[in-house]
Amino acid sequence: DPGLYIVATPIGNLGDITLRAVDVLRRCDGVACEDTRVTGKLLKHLGISKPLWRYDDHSEHRDRSRLVESMRTRAVALVSDAGTPLVSDPGYRLVNDCRAEGIPVTALPGPCAAVMGLTLSGLPNDRFMFAGFLPSKDKARREFLEELAGIDATLIFYETAPRLLKSLDAIDHALPNREVAVARELTKLHEEARRGMPPGLIAYYDAHPPKGEIVLLVGPPIEQVMSGNDADMLLADALTTMKTSQAAAH
Ligand code: SAM
Repeated sequence: DPGLYIVATPIGNLGDITLRAVDVLRRCDGVACEDTRVTGKLLKHLGISKPLWRYDDHSEHRDRSRLVESMRTRAVALVSDAGTPLVSDPGYRLVNDCRAEGIPVTALPGPCAAVMGLTLSGLPNDRFMFAGFLPSKDKARREFLEELAGIDATLIFYETAPRLLKSLDAIDHALPNREVAVARELTKLHEEARRGMPPGLIAYYDAHPPKGEIVLLVGPPIEQVMSGNDADMLLADALTTMKTSQAAAH
């Protein structure tokens, strides 16, 4: 059927392509992608040959309108280099325009580094905020982190290996006393999810310079980690102890 199909692709391990993704890539009329070489390789691995159209959200409005119009009669798959399109990847404007033009849009869920990092970290996940890439300049990074400091949730960032130490240091200052997880090379041979307080992680990665792709997670502010229930139980325990010691004293 014509329309836009947002297709998640693997973030490292090619075995993570879904059956539906293969089916749609096989049946669509063409694939809009970030980098035709990267997507060409994936399709080749799957034994699929399709027209590839380079797409990014900064493409000229005219090019995007043409692509959107073509979806009245064609099925177009949107993929990014890895993972879920639109998550720190192109696609937002395309999806927005398709919806505005009444083009059918559907999504095929699959790998997403942010979600995998969260689930693997073991950090509280009842509330989380994905905040994309940290700014690369020191001052902008500090201000960005300070803005997020009051949010009672686990924070998720995308990070690159060369910046990890600086970011850990900035987190230590702007978000003190919060547990951090470094989820690296997810689904790949050297997958790792290391958790600790920033000083310990800084010491570790100083001695073992990290390589590859990284999701950086910061647990919620410590005083808020305690749930209402935990607090009630602690209070009840304390009262019982007081009563017991008063009784023992009499
Ligand atoms: N759309 C992708 C997704 O759904 O995960 C993310 C694209 S974003 C341009 C690339 C960033 O995602 C990397 O810099 C890294 O922070 C994170 N990432 C992607 N693959 C990863 C992996 N296998 N392990 C850890 N982080 C990864």
